Amino acid sequence: MPTEPTGAPRTAGQRVAVVGAGLAGALLATLLGRRGIPVTVYERRPDPRVTGAERGRSINLAISARGLAALEQVGLREQALARALPMHGRLVHPRGAATNFQPYSADGTRAINSISRAELNAALLDTAEATPGVTLRFEHRVTALDTASGKLTLDGPDGTRTEPADVVLAGDGAYSAVRRGVGPGGAFDAATDFLEHGYKELTIPPRDGDFALDPDALHIWPRRATSMMIALPNLDRSFTCTLFWPKDEFEALGTPEAVTAHFRRHYPDVVELMPDLADDFARNPVGSLVTVRAWPWVRIGDGASVALLGDAAHAIVPFFGQGANCAFEDCIEIDRCLDEANGDWPAALTLYQERRKANTDAIADMALDNFVEMRDRVASPVFRARQAAVHA
Ligand code: FAD
Repeated sequence: MPTEPTGAPRTAGQRVAVVGAGLAGALLATLLGRRGIPVTVYERRPDPRVTGAERGRSINLAISARGLAALEQVGLREQALARALPMHGRLVHPRGAATNFQPYSADGTRAINSISRAELNAALLDTAEATPGVTLRFEHRVTALDTASGKLTLDGPDGTRTEPADVVLAGDGAYSAVRRGVGPGGAFDAATDFLEHGYKELTIPPRDGDFALDPDALHIWPRRATSMMIALPNLDRSFTCTLFWPKDEFEALGTPEAVTAHFRRHYPDVVELMPDLADDFARNPVGSLVTVRAWPWVRIGDGASVALLGDAAHAIVPFFGQGANCAFEDCIEIDRCLDEANGDWPAALTLYQERRKANTDAIADMALDNFVEMRDRVASPVFRARQAAVHA
C-alpha cells in the first residue's frame, strides 16, 4: 500500500464524500465537519426522519461502552442514554425449565443498552445536518467512482450526474457498492461468508400497559443447538424479538396454524404474549447474516483516495451486538489518524486501516462464537455453574 509522506496539511481544499448516511456515515460526517472539512453525504434512501424506518432492519440495537464513548465525541452520549433501556444481564428461557438470570458483571452494575436504531440514526443525522460544512443528499445512490479523475456518479431524483471527490469514505453497509467495485480498480478483495441461518423480527406488545417480560434483561430462548430467539425491550414497553433459525425452518412454516403450533411447542412461555404472531411471521422478511472480511480497506488513487468503514469493511454477525459499536470506533479512529497524520488523507487512511483490522477480525470471530454460546451453551447446567462461580 503506497503511503505518501506526511507534510503540510492536505485536508484544506479537499472535496470529501461520505457514501451512506447510516450510523457510521452520519457520525463520520459530523466529526469531519467539526474539523472544518466540508463533507457531502450521499444516501440512496429517502431521509428516514421523514419517511420512517425501513422495514426489515433491526429495530433496536445493543449499544455498549465502545459505542457510547464514540457518541460522547459528538455530544450524543447523554441523549442516547436518556432514551435507552439498560439490560444488566441475560435472562435465559430454557424449554420446560425455570428461567435463569446471568448478570453481565459480578456486582450487577454493568449493562448494555437497548436503543432504537431509527432514533439513534435520526439523532446522528440531526447532529450532522447542524454541523457547518456538512451537506446531506438523500435519494442519491452512488453508482460509479473514477479514482483517476476523482469523480462520483450518482443516480438521484434529477437523473444521473457526476460530482467531484478527492476523498471517498464508503460507509455504505454490508453490501457496499464501493467495495464491490463501482471504481475502475474493480472490487476490493473481500471474503463474504453467509450463515445458513437467517433472522426475522417479531413483537411482544405491552401487556396491560406494562412490559410483558422483565425489561432489565436481554432475553434468550436457546433451542435445539441450531436455533434461538432473543428479545430486547423498547421504550414503548414492547419487546422486539429476533428469531435466528436455519432459513429452511422459516420456509417450512407455511400456514398461520403451523406457526402457532411451532411456537406452542418450542416457545411455550411467550406464545400467549404474541397476539400478532402469525401475521408478523408472514409479513416480516427473513434477513441474511453475513461476515465480510475485506482487505485492504484503503486505495490511494491519483485523483481520489477511497476507504471502507463500518459494515462495508467488516460486517459481522449480530450475536455479540458489536457491529454498530465497531462502526462508530472506525469513525473515531479516522478522526484520530487525521490528527496524527497532520491532515494528510492518504497517510491517515493507511494508519486507520492498519490500526483497526486486527480488532475487527477478532470481534468477527467472537461474534460467530457467541452464536454457539447463546443458542446452546447458556442453557447447559455446566455453563451456568461456571458463570455462577465466576460471579461469586
Ligand atoms: P448501515 O447502517 O448498513 O448503513 C449503510 C447506509 O448506506 C444505508 O443507509 C444505505 O442505504 C446506504 N447505502 C448503501 N448503498 C449505497 C449507495 N450505493 N449509495 C448511497 N448510499 C448507499 N450492532 C450493534 O452494535 N448492536 C446490536 O445490537 C446489533 N444488532 C443487530 C441486529 C441485526 C439483526 C443485524 C442485521 C445487525 C445488528 N447490528 C448490531 C449491526 C449493525 O446494524 C451494523 O453494524 C451497523 O448498522 C453498521 O453501520 P454502517 O453505517 O456501517 O452501515
